[in-house]
Amino acid sequence: MAFKNKILVIGAGIAGPALCYWLKRFGFSPVLIEKSAAARKGGQALDLRGVAIDLAKKMGIYKRVCEMRTRIERGRYVDAQGNILHEEMGERFSFRQGEDVEILRGDLVEILMEAIEGIPCHFNQMVAGIHQNDESIDVHFNDGKNEHYDLVIGADGIYSATRRMVFDKEEYQLINLGSYLSAFSIPNYLHLSHIEMLCESNQKLASISSDRDPKMARAGFMFRSQHTLKNIRDEIEQQQFLRSTYQDFGWETSKILELLTPCDDFYFDSNTQVKMKSWTKGRVALLGDAGYCASPLSGQGNNLALVGAYILAGELKKAQGAHTRAFRRYSELLQPFVEAAQTFGVSVSESFLVSDDVSQAIAEERSHQFLQEIKVVSNAIVLPEYE
Ligand SMILES: Cc1cc2nc3c(=O)[nH]c(=O)nc-3n(C[C@H](O)[C@H](O)[C@H](O)COP(=O)(O)OP(=O)(O)OC[C@H]3O[C@@H](n4cnc5c(N)ncnc54)[C@H](O)[C@@H]3O)c2cc1C
Repeated sequence: MAFKNKILVIGAGIAGPALCYWLKRFGFSPVLIEKSAAARKGGQALDLRGVAIDLAKKMGIYKRVCEMRTRIERGRYVDAQGNILHEEMGERFSFRQGEDVEILRGDLVEILMEAIEGIPCHFNQMVAGIHQNDESIDVHFNDGKNEHYDLVIGADGIYSATRRMVFDKEEYQLINLGSYLSAFSIPNYLHLSHIEMLCESNQKLASISSDRDPKMARAGFMFRSQHTLKNIRDEIEQQQFLRSTYQDFGWETSKILELLTPCDDFYFDSNTQVKMKSWTKGRVALLGDAGYCASPLSGQGNNLALVGAYILAGELKKAQGAHTRAFRRYSELLQPFVEAAQTFGVSVSESFLVSDDVSQAIAEERSHQFLQEIKVVSNAIVLPEYE
């Protein structure tokens, strides 16, 4: 069955392409726009787990995800002098079990973009204004173009412009969990092979790993800080802050930061959650981080995006395009899953980034606790069947 609704999806990260995939499969004709010149490939490795695995299988991308997965075999904890504290097998080190699979965010974006081949996708495109009435939405684009849509879905990430344009300030809250995260690529100067090294001390963590591409390594930093950046999205300020925070940290951090040059996959953000009274308003709905970011600490960002996309598209199909009913069901069904992820994000925030070196006992206790909790959190929803 084909539906007439014209749907604009904003943001080609994880949530946007996943939604387009399901909308098309369920008989809609979405249009996707992205502000960058191409799909943004940056970011660390993300885990696909729980019900998101079932969705990846339904979408026919699970095999491809497994082919492109990271292959970290060992996790090694070191102290600030580089002495080995202890090692863990890769899966346990990253809190994975069963069919859970780790993949670089950029690789997952690439797989999703391949899965929506044929759906119109316009890069370098942004919305300047959204005006809705009972009948439709007028969308005014940055390039001066105006178009009518029946629905607009904002999948434009944690700093969603769609959210700012459509919702009042009192309708959402960005809650900073008091820590920051950064990830970027550097040459594999330590000649690491399928291993991740991690040094955690004094509420700061630094890591470096290399797996599929032996020439390159991925550096990761996470640290607690109450400092607020003047502009959290200014890359120069971000890098200065990162360098000053790790100035006397020891281990390999000086060298890693020396190798941080302007690169297209530099990622930096605060661990922040988005909380909203409602993710929908009239004919506009928010999806993924834009509406309910649980923070990278939750390890659930891409899972929330994939599950949210499936339910939003599925409920639109079930309601035969009647958005009011579909949006209400989308919110009702997804709410407990989002709450579980956000609660888990806060609990990880409290137990990670400790003041002392991570002893074997602390690391093992943590693995055990997280493995159990994350299994529950990533399965905290029964996916409806829409076909
Ligand atoms: C470059 C990048 C790197 C990331 N790295 C990590 C990481 O290392 N670890 C982690 O846990 N999470 C990371 N994330 C966040 C993670 O991808 C999300 O938490 C999760 O996957 C949910 O995806 P999303 O599609 O809702 O949001 P995102 O993945 O953030 O995607 C949002 C998309 O919308 C686009 N966009 C933003 N504003 C506009 C606009 N006004 N108009 C049009 N398009 C717009 C963005 O360019 C982006 O492509 C990263 C996000 C990005 C964009």
